[in-house]
Amino acid sequence: MLELRPSCECCDKDLPPDSREAMICSFECTFCASCAGTVLGGRCPNCGGGFAPRPIRPAKEWRSGVCTAKHPPSDKRVHLKYSLEDIAAHSARLKDILPRDR
Ligand SMILES: [Zn+2]
Ligand SMILES: [Zn+2]
Repeated sequence: MLELRPSCECCDKDLPPDSREAMICSFECTFCASCAGTVLGGRCPNCGGGFAPRPIRPAKEWRSGVCTAKHPPSDKRVHLKYSLEDIAAHSARLKDILPRDR
């Protein structure tokens, strides 16, 4: 089950469970679409993988036991530990090795 982290790890923007802007990597590093596409160049700065839109977890209990009330999102804000210079070098290094989305 996804943690549904509460914010962009780059700019700290709020990304609630119903946000259509949240992008995640396979490890669930979480960023807003703007940071993922621009600052990060479509590459996760932590693992080097690509991003996919994070699915919305329904607030309404359409089926018994599966909704944000029963499985609340994480409230732990995570922040990048790399500098912008380091991230730029990282995405430059990776862009020629694999397609952007791999
Ligand atoms: Zn952001
Ligand atoms: Zn990652």
